[in-house]
This record gives sequence, C-alpha cells and structure tokens, in this order.
Amino acid sequence: MRRLLALLLTLILLLSLAGCGGEQQPAETPSAPGGTEAAAESEAPAEEPEPEITPEPEPYNIYDPTVEPPGGSRDGVTYVAYNGVVEHLFFHPVIAYPEQAFDGDHMSDGYDDWMVTVGEYNKILQSVYEKGFVLVNISDCWSEETSEDGSSRMVKNTLYLPEGKKPLIISYDDVNYNLYTLGDGFTYKLIFGEDGKLWSWGLDPQGNEVVSRDLDAITILDKFVEEHPDFSPFGAKGCLSITGYEGILGYRTQTDSENWTAEREAERQKEIEAVKPIVAELKRTGWTFGSHTWGHISLNSRSYETVTADMQRWFDEVGSLVGEVDTIFYPFGGRLDGDDVKQTGPAMQWMVDHGFRIFCSVGIQSYSKIKSDTCAVICDRLHPDGTTLRGSDKVLEWYSQFYDARDIIDLEVRPEREVRWTPKSAETPAVETPAQ
Ligand SMILES: [Zn+2]
Repeated sequence: MRRLLALLLTLILLLSLAGCGGEQQPAETPSAPGGTEAAAESEAPAEEPEPEITPEPEPYNIYDPTVEPPGGSRDGVTYVAYNGVVEHLFFHPVIAYPEQAFDGDHMSDGYDDWMVTVGEYNKILQSVYEKGFVLVNISDCWSEETSEDGSSRMVKNTLYLPEGKKPLIISYDDVNYNLYTLGDGFTYKLIFGEDGKLWSWGLDPQGNEVVSRDLDAITILDKFVEEHPDFSPFGAKGCLSITGYEGILGYRTQTDSENWTAEREAERQKEIEAVKPIVAELKRTGWTFGSHTWGHISLNSRSYETVTADMQRWFDEVGSLVGEVDTIFYPFGGRLDGDDVKQTGPAMQWMVDHGFRIFCSVGIQSYSKIKSDTCAVICDRLHPDGTTLRGSDKVLEWYSQFYDARDIIDLEVRPEREVRWTPKSAETPAVETPAQ
C-alpha cells in the first residue's frame, strides 16, 4: 500500500510538471488526496529533494515531403505535387541587443553588413509566412540515384506541398556562438529551460543573466512554428551550418594544438556531454546540421591537403557530435577547387567520397545545379542582411517575393549608412505604358 501511494505521488508530480508548459512553474505544490500518508509527506516540502525529472518532451512529428499523404490530404489539407524552384534564405546569428552590436566599434559595420536584428528577423519570418512559404528540409529536396553502371547522381525530388504553398529552405551560418560575438549583442549558448524546451542563455548589456526564447534565431523559429504550425507542415526547421574551431552551439568542444593539458581535456569532455542532449533535441524538433568547415577556411583558395585536413578535424570534433551530414556551406561563399560550377576538382570529389551531396554558396537567387560528373548538387542562397536590406531597387526586386526590405530594415538602430533603394513615398504610381 505504501508503495502504491508513493507511486501515486510520483504520478501526480509528473503530471503537474508535464502540464506546466508555460514559462513559470506553478507556485503551489501538487495536492495529494487528503488524509493519507502521501498528503502528510507532501505537506513538508522543505524536506523533499528537488525532483530530478525533466518534463516528458511534447511529441514532435516529422513528415517526408516526397511522399504524397494517403488520399492526397493530411489533417484536412490537400497536398499537391511541386516541381518548381525551392527557395533558400540564410542568416547569420541575429542581433539581440542592437545598442551593443552597433556601438561604433570596429565590428559595427560588419554586423550591419552581414546580420539582421531580432526585430528584423521576426518581420522576415512573418512576411515569408504570409507570402505562402512553408519550411522544408534541404536534404529532402534531392535524392541520390544509382544507374545501371553503378554510378550515382543526384536527382531533384517532387515535393508534395499543401495546395498553394511554396517551399523554403532556411540555413543558419556560424551557429557556434563564436567568442567575438559574446558581450557584443548576441546570445551566448542554447540551454534547456525548465519546460524541457531549448532557450538561449546570455547577458544583457547591463550584465544581467537572460534566459529567453525571443533573442536567438533558433528559439525564435521554434516559437514561430509552435504559433504557426502550418509554416512547417513537415516539421522542418532550418539547417545549422557549423564550424569547429570554437566548439558548437556555445559549448567549447574543440581541441587546441597549443598547451593542451589533462585539465583542459576534462573541461572539453564536460562540454561535450552538455551539448549532446541539445543536439538531440534540435534534431528531434526538425533542425538539421551541415558543415561550415572546422576552421572557417576559404575553400576556393586553400590546397587540397589543407582542405581535407581541416575537414577531417571537422569530422573528429563536430561530426562526432552532430552525426552524419550531407550538406556543406562554403565559408565566405568560396567555391571548392576555385569553381565548382565548371569543374569537379579533387577537393569536391573528396567531399563526395566523404558523404557530402549538397554544396551551398551564396548568390542573388536560389540557383541550383545537379552535377553531371559526380554525385552532387551545388546551390546558391540569398542572404537577408544589411547589404541586401540597404540594396538598390534591383536588389529589392530579388527579395520582393519574400518581403519588401523597406518594411524590414530598422534604420533606427542600425548605423547611419547609405540605403540605395527608392523610398516608398518617392515611387511613382504604376502607369500602363504602351508596348514597344
Ligand atoms: Zn561563416
């Protein structure tokens, strides 16, 4: 009987924890049936040890967009075949505290060029959502096909999308919480919150600890999908492009060739153990990983020996934590072997032999090309950031299917620098011109 009551108490406690999806734990302790031993026990909370229970994670469904749902519909939504372009946007870490990032130091202009603020990022997500984009996993967009002679090539997949929707890949470069960004307006790392979800940890400009889901690109997208599940009908989120030289996801899991000691190795092992459940939770909730090389090296200018040694180190220190990946994102956009479009060089072939299939650079459109001489697809991504938000009317046009940059850019917080587009008020209303 005593055992049964203990079980009952545990169950009540578990239920109360599982039901607490919000940001705060309920103030009251779980109430047990009156007049029992269990009730007597629960009235002395001071003596109870902290329950070491992580809340049961909410189930998360992931679907394969290349498989048509039975009967052509799921949850009352009709799915139709799509064979058009899969758009691809990428972000760097988002700026949580613009006043810190844009404080006029030597990094301010770089942040202005290559990053967006949390406010801008929120507006971009809202806009692509309203324009009918839905998230897809980059690895679902192409498949490997082996021909009769035994050679393999990539083929583009037909995707089955909710009727009227367009597919969108989002990737995130340098999700390492690199040291130069710490204390400069960015979050510091991902952690688990009391609700079992991922939150960011960091310090605000005043030095106060901040645990939030509203300041980091990853947690913001998690939350956005929770609030707009139809933005991710397959459960896909984004692909995280990570280096290794300063660890991953804010955990210092890297080695260093200088002054390595047993103590530092022990510290590293602790970080490795801490990041493993974070990686597992990201994968469980639709995030995928890609390589950005270990040392953020320019793949277009380094020798074959340098590239392969760097990538081996990436496999040892990062691949060992995130698992197999098929996508590589070129640092600085530098194409493998100088030009991967025209030729397949030895470094690209090495990558293919080591499991990479999707090779991403940066460009002015979501270009993609399936290689005919090896099993790979190369693609370009567009880059919402200061350079394009401030761009000319032509640049504005490239991004118009996603958003109007003039509605997104926050000139109040960004440094005073040139914008090249025509302000809305100066635009002349469209008039029909006779065809020439
Ligand atoms: Zn990078």
